[in-house]
Amino acid sequence: MTQPLQFFGYKNGKLSSDGIPLDEIARLVGTPAYVYSAEAFLSPLRVIQKGLESVDHLVCFAVKANSNVAILKMLADAGAGADLVSGGELFRAETAQVPGNRIVFSGVGKTPVEMEKALSYANQGIFSFNVESVAELAVLSGVAVRMGKKAPVALRFNPDVDAKTHPYISTGLKKNKFGMDRKEILTVAKSVAKYPGVDFRGISIHIGSQLLSLSPLGDAFSRTADLVRELNRTLPSPLSHLDLGGGVGITYKNEKSPSLKKYCALILKHFGPKSKSPFRGKIVLEPGRTLSGNSGVLLTEVLYRKERKSKDFIVVDAAMNDLMRPALYGSYHEIIPVKKASGKSKKADIVGPVCESSDCFGQDRKLPAQLGSGDLLAVLSAGAYGFSMAGTYNSRPRPAEVLIEGGAVRVIRKRETYEDLVRGESV
Ligand code: PLP
Repeated sequence: MTQPLQFFGYKNGKLSSDGIPLDEIARLVGTPAYVYSAEAFLSPLRVIQKGLESVDHLVCFAVKANSNVAILKMLADAGAGADLVSGGELFRAETAQVPGNRIVFSGVGKTPVEMEKALSYANQGIFSFNVESVAELAVLSGVAVRMGKKAPVALRFNPDVDAKTHPYISTGLKKNKFGMDRKEILTVAKSVAKYPGVDFRGISIHIGSQLLSLSPLGDAFSRTADLVRELNRTLPSPLSHLDLGGGVGITYKNEKSPSLKKYCALILKHFGPKSKSPFRGKIVLEPGRTLSGNSGVLLTEVLYRKERKSKDFIVVDAAMNDLMRPALYGSYHEIIPVKKASGKSKKADIVGPVCESSDCFGQDRKLPAQLGSGDLLAVLSAGAYGFSMAGTYNSRPRPAEVLIEGGAVRVIRKRETYEDLVRGESV
């Protein structure tokens, strides 16, 4: 369970992390800026690693949640790997020196060029391709044969369970584009000889993101255990790994997010040494938000306060291009002042400068009535799907990213410039 203010809190009246007041960071790199806490990433990682210490396991951070190479390197140094969905993410993993035997490649649309790159990643190739269709399997097999290699493969199983999350981030239902059903997977298992470039080693699942209950995961694990039992009877050798995906939710407001210890216990109940499952291989996980969501805030400065009778508009210098989640999913982020304030508060909508009414970070939020131009706000829980989803709409350069690590501040991505905006364009 990770909370918005677990690793950020007020110290001497200022929002800080690891002893560093965030107004200092605003002075250093300007605003808007993403500020991350290293400890906030590492702490849930350690809980998972400890919770699964009785089994062979690998935690592959879902790079899509936060793809900064400094973050990937820090997590790799702590024993994690990477779950990728594109050639660009593969390049990031390489830049961050993530070992190939800790990389899984997911996604419904891998291209032959991406497959080639992954097969020759750091000479040794990657740990697994999570293959999502029979058509993709055939192409991957062909690419591997041409390269004189065998592609290690887990077939992505769509267990048809309702993750009970936002429809845009639900991925484990029959109607979703992801994975293969049980019948398709069993058919492939019976005809592995048709795919000579492929080494069928595992099953992967991922039923959705921001799951606030473990019970859909439990259902998916049961269906997976059942499938694995049948596959182990069909295949020439038993499966050697199971990738159980990511998806464990975090607290954005006051919702109760699942305990990571209970999550690990659930995994062990289904696949651990004392489980009924015949599976005795490696357990792979792909957490994204769980490690990163509450590890970062978006720091922004108030530009104007537009006073109205019923409520005000607080116009800030961050916008939907910097943090898309509220506009995209209507998602909630706590927004708090960097300088702790007492006294009267007034309701306000916190909006950005982009010319869209959806450019709104929060509606009817109670904020200090005196908050005005030049004051700083922090949009909490912005470490996952924040910068990684950022764009340059309205020709707004993307913000800086800063990591607080061991009481020190490191700029891990410079603010983009106007020159960056037009790079590659010609008049
Ligand atoms: N694995 C896959 C295949 C995904 O599609 C995603 C996210 O959509 C994740 C892992 C990470 O999910 P989360 O950030 O909810 O842990």
